[in-house]
Amino acid sequence: MAQGDKKERILIVDDEKMNLKVLADLLKEDYSLVLARSGSQALKHALSDSPPDLILLDVVMPEMGGYEVIKNLKNNDRTKKIPVIFVTSLNSIEDEEQGLRLGAVDYIAKPFSPPIVKMRVRNHLRIVHQYNLLDQLAYLDGLTEIPNRRRFGIVFDNEWSRAIRNKTPLSLAMLDVDYFKQYNDNYGHAMGDIALQDIAKSLQTSLLRPADFIARYGGEEFVMILPETDLDSAKVVAERCLYQVTALKIPHEYSPVADYLSISIGVVTINKHDDLFRNDLLSIADKYLYTAKQNGRNRVYASSN
Ligand code: GH3
Ligand code: MG
Ligand code: MG
Repeated sequence: MAQGDKKERILIVDDEKMNLKVLADLLKEDYSLVLARSGSQALKHALSDSPPDLILLDVVMPEMGGYEVIKNLKNNDRTKKIPVIFVTSLNSIEDEEQGLRLGAVDYIAKPFSPPIVKMRVRNHLRIVHQYNLLDQLAYLDGLTEIPNRRRFGIVFDNEWSRAIRNKTPLSLAMLDVDYFKQYNDNYGHAMGDIALQDIAKSLQTSLLRPADFIARYGGEEFVMILPETDLDSAKVVAERCLYQVTALKIPHEYSPVADYLSISIGVVTINKHDDLFRNDLLSIADKYLYTAKQNGRNRVYASSN
């Protein structure tokens, strides 16, 4: 996807040097190009740390043909979404059908018209760009614009597996706004919405490590994942969150525990990785949140599993 002024990257695959040159000359001004002379080279580029946004793929190549290459791409989660356009001298209806059936987004027969190739490439990249935008929106919470519960599920699955695999500690925190019903009842729902937006922002800025993650879990509840973080460090983060939220100084005259809106936090850290299921961690964090509420709210309750 294009980010700022960064050019989109196109991988061109063809065993004939001359064909590569023709396409490269056509596209080099507008895109950043990577050229490959074989199917295996193409796969290597597709799997690299800077994968292409689009692939122009020849069909007939020695060793590994284009159909084989696209099958490999579509079978790998890391590469299956990269759009592939076949550019080929095979121009029967059957060939075209076969190429599209294997998952190509387009099929261009040689000899091709250069301006048409240019426009098709541009159109497909535009679709990818729009798809990526929609994909990002689907994982954001509409009100607070921080990640939503759906996104949390994916991140949590990954971090959970990583912690089990590497036997590293993992901390999880559930956060809930105190006496928020009273806030809504007295200041109105619209003010409540603004308060949630401000709280979400301040929680997000309380996280300092790149791997730390926060999402809106639902209503006035948030959830935080702190990978490779032991109990003591997790407590420090939770206390910082607590402080940052009261530092917003959102007046809450009807709260019995503070002059301003406050939150309560339950934190659990796993160190022993045996005999524990993913969902146990969530319910333990939830239980500890309840304990923090019982103990007087506007506080953290934290423990290991
Ligand atoms: P506690 O300290 O025990 O957490 O009490 P509470 O009042 O915060 O908890 P309760 O679960 O009784 O009420 C939660 C309130 O949060 C009720 C609901 O209207 C409000 N709420 C949930 N989602 C939203 C939202 O998106 N916007 C607004 N304005 N209010 C919300
Ligand atoms: Mg609440
Ligand atoms: Mg609640």
